[in-house]
Amino acid sequence: MLADPAERLRALNACADVVAQNTRLLTDLDAAIGDGDHGTNMSRGFKALKEAAEDLIQAAPGAMLQRAGTILVATVGGASGPLYGSLLMAMGKAAGTAETLDLPLLTEMLSEGVSAVGRRGKASPGEKTLLDVLVPVRDALKQSLAHGARPFDLAHRVADTAEQALEATRPLRATKGRASFLGERSIGHLDPGAASARLLVSALCQLVGEER
Ligand code: ADP
Ligand code: MG
Repeated sequence: MLADPAERLRALNACADVVAQNTRLLTDLDAAIGDGDHGTNMSRGFKALKEAAEDLIQAAPGAMLQRAGTILVATVGGASGPLYGSLLMAMGKAAGTAETLDLPLLTEMLSEGVSAVGRRGKASPGEKTLLDVLVPVRDALKQSLAHGARPFDLAHRVADTAEQALEATRPLRATKGRASFLGERSIGHLDPGAASARLLVSALCQLVGEER
């Protein structure tokens, strides 16, 4: 994955496009249990990534992700900016100077990214946050690593995992972020951050599925 500038551009565009196309959905989800800005926050950040794309894609995957993380911290705002920023920066750091990402490295990167988000948000899975999608996705990657899977099958499995994990945030009571102010009333709604994480994971999985 991300082995050359063209591949990196496709991945970046896939992420930016899915966020742009779902701005309204993310904002509506956040309006239900937060302050209704998650869609605009995320689309501002990913628009900035797209604007920086020409420079970003020239760097190796690790450096690109670290720079992208810095851009998200500076542009997304809200709680999710520092969280997604930490995710990408930790993933980029874990990638080191690798010229391309294989499944073992990607799994290691996501593990580091998930830990960084947990530290930054002082959150654990089950609290109705983006971690409730990212952790099952990491676990699905780990499982595939153990059992071996073709990229096409892996992409499908991971996308399914992300979709189910998002749906599983609905019955949870939020104990972190703005949604926690609602207490019991946060139950019955999807978490906006988990929804954006799922969209990004699905878009990348679709790309991997198409490329092989
Ligand atoms: P804000 O809540 O500041 O308006 P956003 O609306 O952009 O920021 O993002 C909200 C999302 O951020 C939530 O749906 C949740 O997934 C995530 N989130 C909020 N606080 C935390 C936290 N402490 N740890 C992990 N994720 C969090
Ligand atoms: Mg919000």
